[in-house]
Amino acid sequence: MNSNASLLQLKHVTQVYGSGQKRFVAVQDVNLTMNEGEFVALLGPSGCGKSTLLRIITGLQPATEGRVLYRGAQLKGINPNSSIVFQSFALFPWLTVLENVEVSLKARGVPPRLAVTRALDLLDRVGLDGFETAYPRELSGGMRQKVGFARAMAVEPELLCLDEPFSALDVLSAEALRGELLELWTGGRIPTRAILMVTHNIEEAVIMADRIVVMDKVPGRVVTDMKVSLPHPRMRKDPKFLEVVDRVYGILAGQTLPEHLEMGTAPGEPGRTRALPHIVLNELIGLMEFLDTMPNDRVDIYRLAEELVMNSDRLLRLIDAAELLGFATIAHGDITLTPLGETFAEASILARKEIFATRIRRLPVFRWLAAMLTATDGHQLKWNVIQTALELEFPSEEAQRQLDSAVNWGRYAEILAYDDDAELISLEPALGGQTPEQGGKQEGAGKPH
Ligand code: ADP
Ligand code: MG
Repeated sequence: MNSNASLLQLKHVTQVYGSGQKRFVAVQDVNLTMNEGEFVALLGPSGCGKSTLLRIITGLQPATEGRVLYRGAQLKGINPNSSIVFQSFALFPWLTVLENVEVSLKARGVPPRLAVTRALDLLDRVGLDGFETAYPRELSGGMRQKVGFARAMAVEPELLCLDEPFSALDVLSAEALRGELLELWTGGRIPTRAILMVTHNIEEAVIMADRIVVMDKVPGRVVTDMKVSLPHPRMRKDPKFLEVVDRVYGILAGQTLPEHLEMGTAPGEPGRTRALPHIVLNELIGLMEFLDTMPNDRVDIYRLAEELVMNSDRLLRLIDAAELLGFATIAHGDITLTPLGETFAEASILARKEIFATRIRRLPVFRWLAAMLTATDGHQLKWNVIQTALELEFPSEEAQRQLDSAVNWGRYAEILAYDDDAELISLEPALGGQTPEQGGKQEGAGKPH
């Protein structure tokens, strides 16, 4: 799939909704080119106009201003060369799996006999061989979404648009379906010439896409367009992969202070170790969700204390944590969510854990902990051993509280486990570099309760 002819071009596309007092610029002056052979991921907070752009690109709605060129010609009406897969695909419950795929072929005028053959072939390719006569209700979420893919691909779209296609699935089904789509795509087994995928999942974007386009909102616009030039298949533990993930996080998180000042050094290293703020993680999540509801994701800190009915000590610790994690920035007495903070607030429980894990892995204390644990047989150490090591940096009581916080955060992120009876802290396989495909991420696996 190496051709550079541009398939799609958006030129100064603007979308306005409503009029008069209610006039709202949803998307402003977006320029975007997609070339043949490209898989582009579109990231950005909700409301920044991602779905609007997909509708404009596929011709489901005309843009208020600007032009959409498809293979160089101005697009008018629905683009017959494109199709969209939504988060939860609407299947007809009264039709079988096979009929659900046939329907879209027949709607495009494919003769019935050919439609059956093609539908059967597609179902086979997405791994639904043997389920042709099943009804949607008999299928798992992952399998239903596969029918959705088969249906979208049935019309052999040159341009496949995906609107958060994996976000309603459980981790394992999502991973499996991602793998299957990538195989079809990179193996050239589908006639699709380009894919545009909206996602909230940063790792997913880096695993799949050749380019990542980041949007921000009010007004909705493109703020970054970066190439991902890693060969497939991409490995989640590959340092080059992590470097790209890190760069995307960096773009989304912004920066309050140079990172080495913000994060401090590891215990035992020269320089001060940044203490973890002692917080209740659910309160941090609550704060993120609250900020996400504020106009421009910004609020006066003093107002926040009133609104949340929280004493200022507790609130300041939460704010400190949000800043340390790159979820918010503080300026002129206001706290503002970063795009990463928004992504976190809007993500599913599992995607939140992933975002949180990626952020805390950067903290020197966690790097230090991981290095110590990795160096032992079985990747585990007694609580006391680690606390003693932390006492090089903190007074004994604070060292204990620091470790308490670290274990709490690490457990939430599923990178650390703690066995209360044995007083053992251990590394979850994921931090040791195991990929989800190898089963390192199975919910609840091997965790002490
Ligand atoms: P995203 O997919 O990035 O979450 P959308 O494209 O769905 O964003 O929406 C962008 C903005 O436009 C949002 O503020 C949304 O409320 C508004 N919007 C979307 N569709 C309409 C519509 N048909 N009428 C009015 N406002 C809309
Ligand atoms: Mg949307």
